Parts: sequence; structure tokens; C-alpha cells
Amino acid sequence: MTKKIQAPRGTYDVLPSLADERARLEHTAAKLLGAAGYGRIETPTFEATHLFSRTVGEATDVVQKEMYTLQDGSGDSLTLRPEGTAPVVRAYLEHGLHKEPQPVKLWYLSQFFRYERPQAGRFRQFWQIGVEAIGSADPAVDAEVILLLAELLEAIGARDVHLVLASLGQPESRAAYREELIAYLRANEDQLSREVIDRIDLNPLRAFDAKHEPTQRVMAKAPRLIDRLPQEDLDHFAEVQDLLRASDLSYTVDTTLVRGLDYYTRTLFEFQSGALEAAQNTLGGGGRYDGLAEAIGGPPTPGIGWAAGVERMLMASTQPPPVELPVELYVAYEPGHKEAAFRLAADARRAGHTARLELAGRSLKGQLKQASRTRARYVAIFGDEGVQLRDRDGGEDKLVAPESVMHHIRGQI
Ligand code: AMP
Repeated sequence: MTKKIQAPRGTYDVLPSLADERARLEHTAAKLLGAAGYGRIETPTFEATHLFSRTVGEATDVVQKEMYTLQDGSGDSLTLRPEGTAPVVRAYLEHGLHKEPQPVKLWYLSQFFRYERPQAGRFRQFWQIGVEAIGSADPAVDAEVILLLAELLEAIGARDVHLVLASLGQPESRAAYREELIAYLRANEDQLSREVIDRIDLNPLRAFDAKHEPTQRVMAKAPRLIDRLPQEDLDHFAEVQDLLRASDLSYTVDTTLVRGLDYYTRTLFEFQSGALEAAQNTLGGGGRYDGLAEAIGGPPTPGIGWAAGVERMLMASTQPPPVELPVELYVAYEPGHKEAAFRLAADARRAGHTARLELAGRSLKGQLKQASRTRARYVAIFGDEGVQLRDRDGGEDKLVAPESVMHHIRGQI
């Protein structure tokens, strides 16, 4: 027998049993974000590769190891989007959205692709809900987007959620800090893990994430970026925090927070859930990216946004099971009456009822069993004498004319 072809590793099928809860998450997000003035955007599934390499960062895991990149027939290098911010900022610039009142507020629900090691809550094709507010550096925008993610997570009943905040400052202070940190790591190289040593120049901040204990001891005494930020950035961060406190949102500041994308400036944040395993406990996160538009050839344009994983939000949430729509009418038929039965089922659906028609050629007995399995309120049985209409809630069967079935059940259901 030919070997069965299966879905690629790290991908999954959305069967109807999964589709309902996803649809509800989408509905909740659309309502909440729409009410806050965010308009929905959808960008292409693939983009020019350098859109990501120039913005996400050449040294990041995403660009170095995780992108699905291909060459198309004309020799152009294209990449299945690994994240949503660079494409949305590209679209903002391409469509001149800077001419609209700022900030331009957008949200998306799209799928993304990263060649990662598949595990619970980590896939190679996954979905994110995200928002981007582009065109204003006001700390109120930072606080608003953070609050929106908090509200979304609350609305879906995500369990044991906490917010972690940090500020990265501007590229200049970050670059100076980076040099200081590299020098500190070099001076303590004998105590660091091989992996951290190999990445000192490429990504020194990652050393704060190391699981290796001697490295952790070195990092506990390492210089912190927050202590090197200029007053302007500290003031911005303080105002974001004041606004969050004013909205009663609790958080902790973690000066070592790092995220896997290079374009962040100033505010950085993550929502984690204690209900998920530590390695995949981030439900969503984001930050400011005031230099991103310039990196893709636009004018200086501040912006901030977040993305939250659909799979992880559903794993962490306590949504009640979906309520199934009750079937109102089941249409069964004896041989020779298929066409009339087909017509009635279609008419009933057009009139807004839930109706099912026998579709597998069962015997009449089999059809009636099927009708009770679907728990349909009414069963219409087409036969030589006309239509027998049965109310499964009780009462005698009635013999009715085919064209009057709808008349009989209308008003009852
Ligand atoms: P990021 O785009 O890396 O900032 O990730 C934002 C959120 O997307 C994460 O907190 C996860 O919820 C989700 N996410 C990122 N990568 C994956 C993945 N490989 N599989 C599933 N969800 C992911």
C-alpha cells in the first residue's frame, strides 16, 4: 500500500470541532478592537525576503534559522511571513496612510510561518491576532495597546495572566550599552556557557535568558540597560506606567526582558500565563518600533504593536464549550421522492431554519435513526401519500401537503 501522506510537521488541521472556538476568539477580538477604532488589515502571505532581514534583524533566530524562503520563477527571493509588523508598516508606507489622522490603528488575524522545533504551543504554521498603531510616539498609545491585549485576554477567560514590562530606549543608548555588555561578558568569559560565548558579538542580550547557572550568576551582576537610558526615555516609560496604573492594570518591570525581534525601541511588553509550560508561556507581546519605517525606506515614523498567538490563547483560556445550533427540521424520504425532499430542505434553509437532508442513501429506518441522532425538532417524511410531519416533542404525526410543511412548522420553531 502507498505510504499515507501526512500534514507537514508542526502544522495542524482546523477541523470543525476546533473551528468554533477559533471563530469565537475572532469575533471577540473584532468587537473589542473595532470598538477601539482599529481597522482590519490583511497583507500577503509572502513578502520580499529583505523586508524581514532588514527589520527583524540579521542576527535573530527568526532570520538566521526560521524563515521559509523560496525563489520564485523570476528569481526573486520571497519569504513566508514570520511576523506581522514589518508587512503592516510596509503597507502603511506603500498606501500613504501617513496622510490619514495619526496614529493609524490596524489589527490582523493571519497565519505566520517559522521553522521552529514543534512542541505544545509552538508550531511551524501558527496564527496570530495583532494590532499596530502607527504614527504617534505618545505614551498613551503604548498604554492603550497594552490595555487592549489585557482586555482581550480577559474577555476570552485566559488563566493566570501577568504583564511584564521593560523599556529598551533608543538605538544610540542601546548601542552604547551593547558595547558595555559585550566588554563585561568578555571579562567574565571563563564562567559563561559555550552557547553564550559563541553569541557574544551577535546577540549579547540573549545572555540574560541563559539557563546555565554560572552564566546566570554572572548576569545577575551585569550592567542593566534601564540604568543607562536617557531621561527622555525614562520619562516616556514612566508615563506609560502611570497610565497603566490609572487603568488598574498590574504589571512587573523586568529589566532583562528580551524579545526575539530587533526592531523594538522604548516600550517592550509580554503577557505570560501560568497555565502554560514555562517555555511557551508567552501568550502575546510586542513593543515600540520607532525606527522600523526608516529601515524599509520610509520617513521616520513611530509605531507600536503586539501579536498574540491564537493557539496559546485558546490553550490558556476557559471558554465554555460551544453551543450547537439545534436542528429544526430533518427531511427524510422514501424512494422516488428525493427531489421534493431536496427542495424542502433548501426552502427551509432559505427561510432561515436549520435543516438537514438525508445525504447517504440510507433506508427510511436508517434515516429516522439519523433524525433522532441530530435531535431535530421536526421530521418531514416524503412518501407516496404525501408528507408525514412528525413533531419529536410529542403529538400525533400529521399528513400534510409538501407545499404546506413550512406553514405547519412556522411559528412553532
Ligand atoms: P512574536 O511574534 O515572536 O513576538 O510572538 C508573539 C506571540 O505569537 C507569542 O507570544 C506566541 O503566542 C505566538 N507565537 C510565536 N511563535 C509561535 C509559534 N512558532 N507557534 C505558535 N505560536 C507562536
